[in-house]
Amino acid sequence: MKVDVNDWHFNSGKVPVELSFGQWIRLKLRGRVKVFEAIKRGWRGALPFFVFKCKGCGEYALDYLHGYNERLDCRLCDEANSIVRAVNAVFELELEASH
Ligand SMILES: [Zn+2]
Repeated sequence: MKVDVNDWHFNSGKVPVELSFGQWIRLKLRGRVKVFEAIKRGWRGALPFFVFKCKGCGEYALDYLHGYNERLDCRLCDEANSIVRAVNAVFELELEASH
């Protein structure tokens, strides 16, 4: 089962990832599935990486678990959110300046 996954950890965009049938079923049922463990530069040990379906954009993405609530982040949505925040910040500055 091949799934197109947005991967910014080891690639710079969408790459096909081969999943076993069992992994594909888990991805469909749970929305995430562990695909491998890897060590990134600066890490002390290997962490599991997951393919997950992003609830924001509906795309598949690759990430490791963050924080106590084991969050998986989609960079597409992170960037969209940070642009919205930046636009809001400019808007708020303009509002303050107009007083
Ligand atoms: Zn997303």
